[in-house]
Amino acid sequence: MAKIKLAIVGLGKIARDQHLPSLAASDDFELVGVASPHNALDGVPSFEDLASLLDAVTAIDAVSLCTTPQVRYEIARLALERGLHVLLEKPPGATVSEVVALAELAKARKVALFASWHSRHAAAVEPARAWLAARQIRSVTVNWKEDVRVWHPGQAWIWKAGGLGVFDPGINALSILTRILPYPLLLQSAELRFPSNCQTPIAATLEFRGATRMELDFLHPGPPCWDIDVDTEAGRLSLSKGGSEMRLNNEPMSVPHRREYPGLYARFADLVRRGSTDVDTAPLQLVADAFLSGQRVEVAPFVEP
Ligand code: NAP
Repeated sequence: MAKIKLAIVGLGKIARDQHLPSLAASDDFELVGVASPHNALDGVPSFEDLASLLDAVTAIDAVSLCTTPQVRYEIARLALERGLHVLLEKPPGATVSEVVALAELAKARKVALFASWHSRHAAAVEPARAWLAARQIRSVTVNWKEDVRVWHPGQAWIWKAGGLGVFDPGINALSILTRILPYPLLLQSAELRFPSNCQTPIAATLEFRGATRMELDFLHPGPPCWDIDVDTEAGRLSLSKGGSEMRLNNEPMSVPHRREYPGLYARFADLVRRGSTDVDTAPLQLVADAFLSGQRVEVAPFVEP
């Protein structure tokens, strides 16, 4: 089968860390171009923006949008209007309405749109979903904490409106929860802690119906903590390391070998071949709910070291 000719838009950290290696190892895709305002890739035609790339590179089937979320909608719309299949990095947009509009456009144009949630491809997520499907869930505790100074150095966009702040990693936890829990999550209350010099929160506490609590912290020193514990009538299921490891009542469980980004691209290839969409806005909707109804507390300014 012919390879899908794909360009990357936004050659930043995640594009270099995950997208390029996954594409290089993929039998489904061939990288034919890059569009990024201040970055180019040796040996690959590189342009400042998608419009210039599309003028110069005509043999192209798909794009992966690895930009910051604030600029994603306009670029995605251009790509879909040109009949290209589109993969959106998470979060799929700056607003829920943007993402819904893109899904409608993709359907009208009969091209693939994949609002990807990379954490859903972590090894233990599907085993956890299968185990929980038949269980009575009593409570859920999420601790999603990392040091922004280590994981996002110099990324000023995270602190601007639409950048999500601590919800940039926190939405990964929500993408897992909304996949593994056999019922929809409904926000009950939230406290969002905003540094006095930032438009987005640096920490948050969320309470959902069904005894579900989430603690997010972007100033967590030392190793990151990306953990979910689900207490059921049959004991505790624990996911750790961002959904890659699973324990039942503290006993490690073996899970299939699965890596996030290769799985994500395998799913995108399948959607492209079928001209189909996979757009679940639930994680972004919950973040929007927290911004909509959460209490705002001002904390000390964030200063990049
Ligand atoms: P980043 O390192 O700041 O890279 C973002 C890139 O977007 C920049 O390289 C920038 O290109 C590009 N960009 C900005 N405006 C653009 C435009 N109008 N057209 C084309 N490119 C544009 O950020 P990142 O960490 O890679 O994160 C990007 C997205 O991936 C975010 O939504 C994030 O949530 C998600 N993500 C990040 C990680 C991670 O570990 N960092 C993990 C998973 C998902 P120039 O530099 O050329 O200006």
